[in-house]
Parts: sequence; C-alpha cells; structure tokens
Amino acid sequence: PSIADTDLNELARSVDALTRLECKHRNIDLKLDLTEDNNIIRIDGIQFEQVLVNVIKNAYEAIGENGEIRISTRSNPLSIEIANNGPEITDDVRQKLFTPFFTTKSSGQGIGLMFVREVLINHNCKFDLKSQDGWTKFDIHFPKNKTL
Ligand code: ADP
Ligand code: MG
Repeated sequence: PSIADTDLNELARSVDALTRLECKHRNIDLKLDLTEDNNIIRIDGIQFEQVLVNVIKNAYEAIGENGEIRISTRSNPLSIEIANNGPEITDDVRQKLFTPFFTTKSSGQGIGLMFVREVLINHNCKFDLKSQDGWTKFDIHFPKNKTL
C-alpha cells in the first residue's frame, strides 16, 4: 500500500482528469466544486483514486448521455461527494448496492461498489449513496483523526 499525506483537492483534480474525456464523449458536464481550504488526508491515494473513478464510472453509466456530474470537496465536515443527475436508485436496489456481484446492468460485474466499500471501511470513512430530487449522491466523510 502507498499510504501518504494527500491533498483532498489534488485528489479531486486527478480523478477529474482521469474521467473528463469519457464524460466529454457522453456529453456529460463534469464540474469541480472545491473548498478553498487545504485539507490533508492520510490515505492510500492510489486506492482512493480507484474508489472515486469507480463511483464516477457508475455515475456516467447511470446517466448514459447528456447530464451533469459534480465532484465536491468540503472542509466541514471533511468530505468529498460525487453527484450525478439522471435516473434515481429505487429502494430495493439501494439495499443491495454493496452486495458482491450485484448489478442491474446487462454487462455489469457488480464488483465496483464491493471494492469501494472495502477501501472506505479500511480508511474508517463513512459513506452513503442516496438518490433524491433527480440527483444521486455518493458522499464520503473522512474521520477526524488520522487513521492510516
Ligand atoms: P456495476 O457497475 O458493474 O453494475 P457496481 O458495484 O459498480 O457494479 O454497482 C452496482 C449497482 O449499483 C449498479 O448496477 C447500479 O444499479 C447501482 N448504482 C451504482 N451507482 C449508481 C448511480 N450513480 N446511479 C444509479 N445506480 C447506481
Ligand atoms: Mg460499477
């Protein structure tokens, strides 16, 4: 593992850079909404990047084409959120989201959120995927104390 002090906004920018082209191809507006504070988090940056790329991949797959994805960082509480517009998650799907191999996609594998969950639990993050008012939001909260 490559655990190191990482700037939260830098993490958001690098994930933005990794997913921008695919969003462009799909005519999805990818927006960055970053806190002005500098927040340093102690994480496995490579794994965390993969977590966020998985979440954004789900976001653009849910949209298909034409829509908006927002990557937001906040200081209080210390958090990062990925939001997408598009079809909402139904309650029965919501209950199974993190179950290994659960997928609603014809060619999905259902391992994305299984991996996401494992990494976030290892980092002592709190996380939540919710749909409301036409938006789906994956919210990740960092613990107050350094844990890795
Ligand atoms: P996969 O992407 O291969 O289906 P995941 O574990 O990444 O597997 O996601 C599991 C399921 O969670 C998806 O099939 C989808 O039904 C649901 N899901 C995840 N993110 C979103 C989202 N942003 N909007 C709607 N549904 C979502
Ligand atoms: Mg996925």
